[in-house]
Amino acid sequence: PPPPSSPYRVVLLGASGVGKTAFASIFAGAADSMDSDECELCGEVEVDGEAAIISLIDKPSWDSECDQNCPMQSGDAYLLLYSITDRASFLRASELRIALRRCRPAQHTPIILVGNKCDLVRRREVSPNEGRACAALFDCKFIETSAAMQHNVWEAFHGIVRQLRLRRDSK
Ligand code: GDP
Repeated sequence: PPPPSSPYRVVLLGASGVGKTAFASIFAGAADSMDSDECELCGEVEVDGEAAIISLIDKPSWDSECDQNCPMQSGDAYLLLYSITDRASFLRASELRIALRRCRPAQHTPIILVGNKCDLVRRREVSPNEGRACAALFDCKFIETSAAMQHNVWEAFHGIVRQLRLRRDSK
């Protein structure tokens, strides 16, 4: 198989407390992490029999003025997290989606809307159908995960790599 090309820059976005750090630790713990100057959290994952290098960007900071250094510009793909136990974080995800669209008009940037903490069934404030409908509206994929139970977290990472490859292959 061909060697993996340069890292895919995957950005974790979402309100505070939704599970971004938990996602990053799962990634750091299991991906074959690599030392690299250009990657803070860089790891190799195998998706569909082919290696991919992901540079995971957690807690990006940016100014309201969006420039080239802004993660809204520099990411190749985005995991847009909310917590199913926190409706405010779901609304925040919508705002972030709109901000992304403003920063990157007319680009088919791979985005997955991620409803995390699906293990907390009795504290659920956002139904799967609402999540799905929001993703359809925003033209992105949707998945519910539990970082605590390590449920669907890798599916989310693999899904983003598949979307990136589709985009690459269609170029
Ligand atoms: P961040 O602010 O987005 O980085 O959120 P963190 O990853 O720090 O998570 C905030 C809190 O939620 C921590 O106490 C985590 O242990 C907890 N947490 C994260 N993901 C899950 C999950 O899937 N299920 C449950 N029950 N707790 C979670």
